[in-house]
Amino acid sequence: MGTPVQQYRGRFAPSPTGPLHFGSLVGALASYLDARQNQGQWLVRIEDIDPLREKPGAASLILYALEAHGLLWDEEVTYQSSHNAHYEQVVQQLLSQNSAYRCPCSRKDLQQGKGHHTAVCLSQQFALTAPHAIRFKVDQEQATLPDLIQDRYSQRLQSPENDFVIRRKEGFYAYQLAVVVDDHRQRISHVVRGIDLIESTPLQRQLFRSLDWQPPNYAHFPVVVDATGGKLSKQRLSPALDSTVVMANLTKAALALQLIQPEEMLADTPVELVNALVTRWQRQRYSGITKLAEPGFNAPSKADTGQG
Ligand code: GLU
Repeated sequence: MGTPVQQYRGRFAPSPTGPLHFGSLVGALASYLDARQNQGQWLVRIEDIDPLREKPGAASLILYALEAHGLLWDEEVTYQSSHNAHYEQVVQQLLSQNSAYRCPCSRKDLQQGKGHHTAVCLSQQFALTAPHAIRFKVDQEQATLPDLIQDRYSQRLQSPENDFVIRRKEGFYAYQLAVVVDDHRQRISHVVRGIDLIESTPLQRQLFRSLDWQPPNYAHFPVVVDATGGKLSKQRLSPALDSTVVMANLTKAALALQLIQPEEMLADTPVELVNALVTRWQRQRYSGITKLAEPGFNAPSKADTGQG
């Protein structure tokens, strides 16, 4: 048997904009199963870089729910809010190597210019004290993504239309920047996340490239949708998971991921159930699939204590 060339390190990276809901449980479970099946580590990172969208207490609720559902992480949980100095250092590096620029344009300016920037922005002649975002200048390319689940994904990127914000006008660091800096800092080898984020991946890969860092492998699995076909999300006010019925929640998540048959009971405790699912996980199963239906759920007949 050959030894793996690279140690598998996966992660689940929720934004604490609300408690864990069913869609995010499925996401956490998928990335957990992929990591464990590959004898990998699984880390949890709280992406709390946007104080305007954050809900007080959400981070602890998410961690509590993950633990209650048997999704036990390795290493200490990290919080993006404590890494601002590191993000700033990378922003400065990108500016100094001319891979990023200061952009005072408003959304309206850019809309009116059909993605093109104002003369003031193009000349870069404005006071540094004037409000401005910092944007990454994308390389023009037909970006193709090697994905471990989906067929080859391709997206056209061109500057300035697709130049994206890495530090916002308010001074907050943007998701695209923080996620790349942290995936690198934490030596993440596999990013397993919902297909709703696939359009960000070519952007993130360009950032990796311009920083001369090795990007992780990416795998995008389908997202769970409700009866109307909409993704379950905090924005759509999907209800918080009820942590008193963890076995029911996990069974429903396993059904959504097509890992068990309806009525099938694999284990009595969350940890046992999650471990039993590890052996059934096959990421290729989701190739070419973008949506999974939220199962209509009949609670299992055994008492659901959620103890384990
Ligand atoms: N924090 C992002 C979210 O909750 C996910 C980031 C990622 O997996 O790359 O949607």
